[in-house]
Amino acid sequence: MGSDPISSYPERSAIELPESRWADALRERALSPPPPADTAVLLKELRQRSAFYADRLTQSSVAGITAWSAAPILEKADVAAVPVADDGSVRDTRTSGTTGQQVTIRNTRREREFRRALLYRPQLFYELPNKVTQVVFVDGDWCASADDRPKRFAYGGVRYQTWFAGAAAAPAEVLKLLTTLKPQLVRGIASGIVRFIECVDRASLSSLGTRYVAPGGEVLLPEWRALMEDAFRATVLDRYGATESGALAWQCPECNAYHANTDEIIIEADPGGLLVTPLFVRSQPLLRYRLGDQIEFTRGAANCRIGLPTVRITQARRDDWLVDGKGQKVSPLSFQFERVGQLQAWRLHQRTGGELQLYFDGAAEAGPRLANAVRRHVPGRPVELIEGVWQLQRPGKFKRVSSDFPGGEG
Ligand SMILES: [Zn+2]
Repeated sequence: MGSDPISSYPERSAIELPESRWADALRERALSPPPPADTAVLLKELRQRSAFYADRLTQSSVAGITAWSAAPILEKADVAAVPVADDGSVRDTRTSGTTGQQVTIRNTRREREFRRALLYRPQLFYELPNKVTQVVFVDGDWCASADDRPKRFAYGGVRYQTWFAGAAAAPAEVLKLLTTLKPQLVRGIASGIVRFIECVDRASLSSLGTRYVAPGGEVLLPEWRALMEDAFRATVLDRYGATESGALAWQCPECNAYHANTDEIIIEADPGGLLVTPLFVRSQPLLRYRLGDQIEFTRGAANCRIGLPTVRITQARRDDWLVDGKGQKVSPLSFQFERVGQLQAWRLHQRTGGELQLYFDGAAEAGPRLANAVRRHVPGRPVELIEGVWQLQRPGKFKRVSSDFPGGEG
């Protein structure tokens, strides 16, 4: 491809194989470097398949382009205009919008199932029994009971039984679920797992026999990783993905680096922010979609049998910034709320008028200390204190800042 930033990608996504062969195909492809291929083929296909892309590629006066890098970048604001081929099974998912603009992603049932296959790919290389009990932390304030019927899923020769725990659920209920089930695998929202660990007696977690904790959904802070390892006495293997693209990269149980799913998603470490092209999405094709994180390809571990290239995430979607009464931006990192005792979770939201809403879980006396810290760092803005992080009616993570105030986008 000459000077093109794309070195290789396979001609076909594994989604075109029968579903029963996805796990084997994703395993085999992970074990070998992606074969070289011609990105011009993909551009040609998109132009033929979609009037939207035919138009964009023509307007940018690259009608006959073969150079991938000449294709216009799809920004968040452009996504709504991408026509969706609906086979009747399309479902909408909205991105969390913790960094401002929300985007609606539309996938068919088959695409959603393939996304799950890609999400489960790292587990093909975990040392797990052929029947796995897992507990997954998800958005929500409820928790399954061990008596509830699990969700069942067979993949890569392993039968998974899954129970879900809301990241904001009562910690005692989650603890009961875990101690009853003794799951080999714990996955889900990183800050939800952290909040849970901080709320319960850790001694009871170390004897569960959990082999792996696989957090995702947000940047895994080093202290969060240490806390999870220490509490569960398990191997912690992070995942990196996005609602728009699906699973992008995963921490390898053999070399610890993050291998990128470059065989299914064209990943460009653009200086202006990460660009992704998921090859398995046909219903709402995203061509060079700007996700915006900063990543870089690394050399990886020379002795790892997994051939997928390795990446380092240097800056993932951050919290929004707050804007103080004088119009100065304030980084959420300045709060150091972790120093406030008896605080379990918080979310801070700046309204369109500039007022701050501070949602928290914890001892009652933590609230005023928290509010004072916010007033000190964000002078000139009224602060409303609200008990219960789940009162904030928008999707998102804990220990996060969100903003509707102009100029607060991260
Ligand atoms: Zn590896």
